[in-house]
Amino acid sequence: MLKGKKSIRNGIEDFLCPFTDMYISQGSNGAYSHRGIMANDVRGIQAGIKYPYYAPCTCKCLKTYPESGQVMWQSINKVRFANGRVDYATFMTCHDDTMNAKIGQVVEQGQQLGNMGTKGNATGVHCHIEVSQSSDTSWIKNQYGIYHFNNEYDLDDCYFVDNTNIIKGNGSNWRTTNDVKVDEIIPQQTADQLLYPGSKVKFDGIFKADILKRNSNLFGCIQLTGVSYNDYYNEKAKGYHWIPLNDFTEVDRYGNSQGQDDIITGGSSYVINKNIYEVKEIDTKTNSAKLNINGRDVWVFSIYLYEVSNN
Ligand SMILES: [Zn+2]
Repeated sequence: MLKGKKSIRNGIEDFLCPFTDMYISQGSNGAYSHRGIMANDVRGIQAGIKYPYYAPCTCKCLKTYPESGQVMWQSINKVRFANGRVDYATFMTCHDDTMNAKIGQVVEQGQQLGNMGTKGNATGVHCHIEVSQSSDTSWIKNQYGIYHFNNEYDLDDCYFVDNTNIIKGNGSNWRTTNDVKVDEIIPQQTADQLLYPGSKVKFDGIFKADILKRNSNLFGCIQLTGVSYNDYYNEKAKGYHWIPLNDFTEVDRYGNSQGQDDIITGGSSYVINKNIYEVKEIDTKTNSAKLNINGRDVWVFSIYLYEVSNN
């Protein structure tokens, strides 16, 4: 991964490879200190350099073992692994000479977690890493006397190698987030009718153009403004009873646009409006919202509007 990288799909973090460059100097079930365990020793592009590595997910420091620059981390939430599993990640990193992690410390995905090093029994600068796909923190010895997690997985089943330069990958089945598709859940755009200044709204429905002001391209719509015909007639000087026609198009009474003469007439034309407007003001007494349509402020009953997402 690259420094600062985040990868979140459907609200779940993808567990990313913590290394920018990955040269595996000892793999899973190696002949030496990895007998019977699924850890990797990873160095960077050049041997002997203490490259930084980054948090594969947002995680918390659970335990530290300063004598070997070793830290046990656990994801704050469930994460998505490269084999598609979604579960907690518990993982160990070792040999960081500069180790300054404190128990309880939280590191955001993509922020620096530590540096490759030689602290403890390390042969050459590297990071020893092992990952368990569970919240089980048991750290136990196997038959060869080597410590490991209960639910450890091979690392190609754990991390996504997006933007990791694999120099020596041990022939493993490394995957990127593109290899593990996720059906994105698109949030539904539903009306909550709790409009406020700044709400983005659309007109909900088909409206009848009741009276037309031909010379200025306006119509007085009783449905939308809720003003009775008499009130309208008496107060027609008030601009907010008139709505600009421009953004409205003629349809039939079922909302279909075929077969109209496209000339909006007072009392016999039905109209719709598919534009998005921003609510300028609300009036809770009449449950109305003020919109600016074609440069004109218009009050509309909130029940004829529905809120759309702010994006
Ligand atoms: Zn190791």
